[in-house]
Amino acid sequence: MTARLLDGKALAAQIRAEVAEGVATMVARGIRPALTVVLVGDDPASGVYVRSKGKACREAGMGSDTILLPADTPEAELLAVIDRLNADVTVHGILIQMPVPPHIDADKVLRRVDPAKDVDGFHPINVGKVVLGDPTAFRPATPYGIQEMLIRSGIETSGANAVVVGRSTLVGRPMASLLMLPGPAGNATVTVCHSRTRDLPGTCRRADILIVAIGRANFIGADAVKPGATVIDVGINQLPDATRPRGYRLVGDVEFEAVREVAGAITPVPGGVGPMTIAMVLSNTLQAATLQGGA
Ligand code: NDP
Repeated sequence: MTARLLDGKALAAQIRAEVAEGVATMVARGIRPALTVVLVGDDPASGVYVRSKGKACREAGMGSDTILLPADTPEAELLAVIDRLNADVTVHGILIQMPVPPHIDADKVLRRVDPAKDVDGFHPINVGKVVLGDPTAFRPATPYGIQEMLIRSGIETSGANAVVVGRSTLVGRPMASLLMLPGPAGNATVTVCHSRTRDLPGTCRRADILIVAIGRANFIGADAVKPGATVIDVGINQLPDATRPRGYRLVGDVEFEAVREVAGAITPVPGGVGPMTIAMVLSNTLQAATLQGGA
């Protein structure tokens, strides 16, 4: 059996078109939903993410601004920039690109963003709202994108055994919360694994839905996958590859070729979860503009 491919690119294009419609409606009423991204330093990977978010915003008809600050920006200066954006009624969503340089306290920065503009869903208020199932929560874009992918691909989570590998605040923990909540893409029986889990392959093999977010290339093999399971690969890892112009290729945390022969459905890397993440940032920004009174 060869697994069905869950095409994140196509699903993300669908969501982005829906967001663009919502944006057009608001623009017709005189409000342009707008996202500002703040990038401190010149980390090349962060630069790529920030540029692709800006491009996606503009394609959806949203306002988009990027504030680039030098790597040695004092923490107080960054906090002052956030205060200014919090007070600016033309800015509906604020993203502080992580990681910030080590002299800056990331927690302090994330807590400074107005929870009503926190479209990354990292502020403790939104983290709490996600756990509570509050519909006004901003869900972190990656787990939110996975939820949308499951719903739009017709994958039933209700009553399913879902195993999430990885317990980061960015992906694993919010993913587990969302899967266990009542509602669409919820009602699953959830197990969370991490580096101290005993018998990881055995635990993964019980999963009807296996979501892997650990950051280790090709870590999950076919022996850890139940036949017919849905496998969502969040990992993005670079493997040296002299045949590629950039000298590397991107692979996930799942051994794609072997696992696709066992799984029922699987996401590719690239082209799976990544595009969904960007689409959900846009969706959250539209939601922020709507909640801020633009509806
Ligand atoms: P973190 O490094 O923050 O967390 C990794 C998690 O994996 C930790 O909970 C860690 O366990 C667990 N882990 C590490 N090694 C093992 C192991 N051998 N066995 C079991 N668990 C293990 O990573 P993120 O959650 O931020 O990201 C994970 C991956 O997803 C990365 O490749 C990242 O690039 C990618 N990513 C992709 C996105 C997308 O849009 N596609 C968005 C966000 C991330 P412990 O807590 O015990 O240390």
